[in-house]
Amino acid sequence: MGSAPANGPAAAAEPALLEVTDLVKHYRIRSRQLARSGLSLRAVDGVSFRVGAGETLGLVGESGGGKTTVGLSVLRLVQPSGGTVSFEGRDVLAAGRVELKALRQRMQIVFQDPIGALDPRKSVGDSVAEGLRIQGLAPRAEARRRAVEVLDRVGLTPAQARSLPHELSGGQLQRVGIARALVLDPRLVVCDEPVSALDVSIQAQIINLLLDLQDERGLAYLFIAHDLALVQHISDRVAVMYLGRIVESAPAGELFGSPAHPYTRALLSAVPADHPSAARQRMVLRGEIPSASAPMTGCPFAPRCPDAMAKCSDEAPQFKEISPGRWAACFLND
Ligand code: SF4
Repeated sequence: MGSAPANGPAAAAEPALLEVTDLVKHYRIRSRQLARSGLSLRAVDGVSFRVGAGETLGLVGESGGGKTTVGLSVLRLVQPSGGTVSFEGRDVLAAGRVELKALRQRMQIVFQDPIGALDPRKSVGDSVAEGLRIQGLAPRAEARRRAVEVLDRVGLTPAQARSLPHELSGGQLQRVGIARALVLDPRLVVCDEPVSALDVSIQAQIINLLLDLQDERGLAYLFIAHDLALVQHISDRVAVMYLGRIVESAPAGELFGSPAHPYTRALLSAVPADHPSAARQRMVLRGEIPSASAPMTGCPFAPRCPDAMAKCSDEAPQFKEISPGRWAACFLND
């Protein structure tokens, strides 16, 4: 499971901006007792997908499913244990220090908690300018000028650019986080739960800003979130992750209209409908997401799946194309 491109062959005809193939990230377990058992934590377990220029791929699933590790691996902020990441045709995982620095100018990330990435003693304008200086793209005065410009574009005034992080609200700080990414003129931005810590009204403002910026600059997003309503709004395609693997991938409209995997159906059943006539019957998942270190046979979702059959515990379903552009790993689609 996981070796096929999650975007499917239709997308494969186009050259991908980002192509991730069989990505694996396992962590060694430090506990002496468990280490002797030879178990490791399989945070990401064979994930493949493509993101085209100007496209948004939503990556969804419960916490602990491996989404953030995928995002960090794409930028090599964590070192994957296996697989390949190709960006603009270049091998990210094989890149040396200088090439990686250049690649990271074109691939940026917006974190859930922007304040963690900011120096509390520096004005946010200086923090935005810092990226330009580190990349050697502008001398100090020019970097400051460009930082104020990009902060203005995301809705912050020159006075706010002179503020320290603690003087700004959560929504304003996330605008700073977006400005830090944008100032380097990237082609791809990994958005890792960028609005989940914000009030609902502010979430809409940030999402609309991301959409406007995408239109203006032709940005591609890998949009990681557990809120499916948000992902539906922003994504062209959606990949659903469960326990380190992609279990379903499809164009957003198709996935939300007729989910093919019971896990997707369960996630969607928890999303409030826009209209009572569109309300879905709530599917309550049994139990918690299992440990990613437990030995696994059969379908990883079997212990929680309301549709599980006898063979689901013995045999793992293949991740395969079930209709043009739609991929899923579930025997129900055979
Ligand atoms: Fe459920 Fe079986 Fe499909 Fe897995 S393969 S999702 S257990 S029905």
